[in-house]
Amino acid sequence: MEALTGGALYQNTMKIVEDAGKLVSLSPNVLERLKLPRRTLVVSVPVKMDDGRVKVFTGYRVQHNQTLGPFKGGIRYHQQVDLSEVAALAALMTFKNSLMNLPLGGAKGGVQVDPNKLSKAELESLTRRFTSEISPFIGPDKDIPAPDVGTDSQTMAWMLDTFSLESGFSQTGVVTGKPIEIGGSLGREAATGLGVIYATEKALEKLNKRLSDATLAIQGFGKVGMFAAIEGYAKGARVVAVSDVSGALYNERGLNIAELSRFVKEKKVIKDFPDAQAITNEELLLLSVDVLAPCALEGVIHAGNAKKVKAKIIVEGANGPTTRDADEILDGLGCMVVPDILANGGGVVVSYFEWVQDISWLFWTEDEVRNKLREVIYKSFDKVWAMSETSKVNMRTGAMATSLLRLERAMKLRGQAW
Ligand code: NAD
Repeated sequence: MEALTGGALYQNTMKIVEDAGKLVSLSPNVLERLKLPRRTLVVSVPVKMDDGRVKVFTGYRVQHNQTLGPFKGGIRYHQQVDLSEVAALAALMTFKNSLMNLPLGGAKGGVQVDPNKLSKAELESLTRRFTSEISPFIGPDKDIPAPDVGTDSQTMAWMLDTFSLESGFSQTGVVTGKPIEIGGSLGREAATGLGVIYATEKALEKLNKRLSDATLAIQGFGKVGMFAAIEGYAKGARVVAVSDVSGALYNERGLNIAELSRFVKEKKVIKDFPDAQAITNEELLLLSVDVLAPCALEGVIHAGNAKKVKAKIIVEGANGPTTRDADEILDGLGCMVVPDILANGGGVVVSYFEWVQDISWLFWTEDEVRNKLREVIYKSFDKVWAMSETSKVNMRTGAMATSLLRLERAMKLRGQAW
């Protein structure tokens, strides 16, 4: 059990659940059930490497809760993936989906692998074998994976194809975040970053500021961070700093994100982009900006650096970027933290839209997707804000409390919370 519940993110997540549960007098039976995932699958994934050797990778799919509907959550390829991290992320999906008012439960998967060290053929082989191993447990009505760190629309295309081959029929609804040509949704690629910006707009409004007058620093320039930067830049915000695994860039006058995106498409990383000063990732986190959006990794804002954070607002594009100790320090500094389950919910909301389009065979325009997404994020933000204000708690506790109340009602109606 230690391997499942012992990780820092798991412990952190369950502590938030306990605090928020206390706030709304959550039934102890509901709490007890939410503390552990429903189903945990660990699989060996043998891959014949290009040099002829066989390498066996470890893969996971954790299905946390399906009270509200089929399990839903991303697949992560990263060398540090472990069971506890995947289980914590699966639980966060349950709470996020509940908060966003989606008819979906929560799950997450991952393979312990550095995808940058594999060739395309090896990655395909890994993905197909992993899909095959978890295929009895996934499906359009059961559990619907999506991309996360280290995976993308190509990974989803291979998953879709493998699952369809095994079932004998094309099943486009088995994954979301897939290419448009095979049933993907317009707007899905940018959705999480877009949601980060919608949440940022609402947070700034509370400080009587507009996005077009605000300065932004964004950690991570991947699927979340890059699209948050693109959208923020398009709406007139001054994006003064961004970073990725290769380092961080700063320009007081604002970076030209359109040019930087083109640069990254070609060079893969932001390093050596002209017209910017190189800074470190740590320095980026401590810049004096209106909004800091950590959109890369877990635990980057911690007790060691939180007191030096100067941003007025933190919008958590990544899952779990702020540790519990840091939360307390940030509260003391008066920094507003828009928590992950609210701030990065845009990805799963549009994943849900994609799944709806796939199972109804009717596709929407990009404007429809964006407008519906904005509505969901704005509404969710308002619910969380109201809960936080009336209960005098920070937005993390407010968001979790809002999510738990919906889950509790559903669990009681289904007779799951004796
Ligand atoms: P990604 O792999 O596309 O991008 C990650 C980015 O982080 C890359 O630019 C990478 O270079 C950068 N990075 C890695 N190590 C770094 C470091 N030490 N310092 C600074 N940057 C570093 O992943 P993603 O899909 O953008 O996911 C990022 C975060 O957002 C994760 O926590 C993920 O769980 C969360 N998230 C993703 C989605 C989604 O739709 N992709 C949805 C919700 C939440």
